Amino acid sequence: MIPFSPPYINDNVIKEVVDSLKSGWITTGPKVKELEHEIGKLVGLPNVLCVNSWTSGAIMMLRWLGLEKGDEVIIPSYTYSATALAVIHAGGVPVMVDVHDDFNINIDAIQNAITPRTKAVMSVDFAGYPCDYSAIKQLLSSEKVISHFKPTSEIQKKLGRILFISDAAHSLGAVYKNKGIGHFCDISIFSLHAVKNITTAEGGAIIINMPEPFNNEDLYGELRSMTLNCQTKDAFSKSQGGNWKYDITGLGMKINMADVNAAIGLAQIKEYPELLKRRKSIFQKYNTEFKKLDWAIEPPMSSNNKESSYHLYPLRIKNINESQRDDIISLISAQQIAVNVHFIPLPLLSYFKGLGYLIKDHPKAYDNYVSEISLPIYPQLLDESIDLIIKTTIDCYEQVISTVSKTV
Ligand SMILES: *Cc1c(COP(=O)(O)O)cnc(C)c1O
Repeated sequence: MIPFSPPYINDNVIKEVVDSLKSGWITTGPKVKELEHEIGKLVGLPNVLCVNSWTSGAIMMLRWLGLEKGDEVIIPSYTYSATALAVIHAGGVPVMVDVHDDFNINIDAIQNAITPRTKAVMSVDFAGYPCDYSAIKQLLSSEKVISHFKPTSEIQKKLGRILFISDAAHSLGAVYKNKGIGHFCDISIFSLHAVKNITTAEGGAIIINMPEPFNNEDLYGELRSMTLNCQTKDAFSKSQGGNWKYDITGLGMKINMADVNAAIGLAQIKEYPELLKRRKSIFQKYNTEFKKLDWAIEPPMSSNNKESSYHLYPLRIKNINESQRDDIISLISAQQIAVNVHFIPLPLLSYFKGLGYLIKDHPKAYDNYVSEISLPIYPQLLDESIDLIIKTTIDCYEQVISTVSKTV
């Protein structure tokens, strides 16, 4: 059986976790600090705040922004449900827009969706391929868009425009204009969930990169306290004798990352350059083989100012419908190879359908969805497995297509 996305656990990871377990301190402490430092080094920005998931981090940042009933956050419809759910949990309305052929949010669609109630735009770096950060930033900073902005919280007034927040759940290690993700927007959030490139089993990391007059270092401290119920003393200081008194200064959340979790990611991120190289070579191998076939569409990998983090390999197949795609997946799975689909567009999911979102408003997301199959890509994947996955995918495609031509 070839699994889809097993976590990368080697002796270094186990050693780091055992070190945390034996240290006498297993929740937020030195390992989290060190992981924040390593992520900061990787992206080239100093203020990184680790939390217990992407989702909780996104909810907290949108609460910090201060959404009132009816406030809107623009997101792509082609994403994981958490992108929209975080907006709803923070009291806002997700405004879903369609995507481009590269799977990422359509900038013209953002422009058309902006209203005086728009408080944030949350783009997604699908599969680890960076969205058009500069174009979005330019749009949100344009005089016309700023002139329609109606701030209703202190933070919004201080910012003076729509917040640009990146769902960077896939893109730790990706490059945009020779820099890591986080430099070209206000807030970026990576996911460190078990299936992501670097994991802490469950976890997330928030890159704080607010413009003047915000002080990102102060903001880090404020937000860190917010992840700990806005308590003035953390558990570690309270564990030191005689230091029992504390205060609660606001309505926080309890979403801090534990050291024992951070240890997993900490060991992995030290090997990340090698792990990324391996992901890239698998991606290239797939591209080389699928390029030879006129029915396959290879996913975007790099352009003059972007490079993917190679989180997913979203293959698309020309001129097939949803049930043919599903048949191909069944056949591949029967050969003991786990593949997936990223993503079911949000308007097709019951909850969002019930809220009134319509798939007909998202034709590109739908096209991408019906033709997409995500193939396994991870550092431990063996060369012979890659060959087998390619061969099996081609065989299963041909089987389904030949069945169709026989029946017509
Ligand atoms: C994984 C993922 C998330 C959610 O991450 P969690 O850490 O599980 O909360 C959000 N957005 C996208 C695009 C994802 O793939």
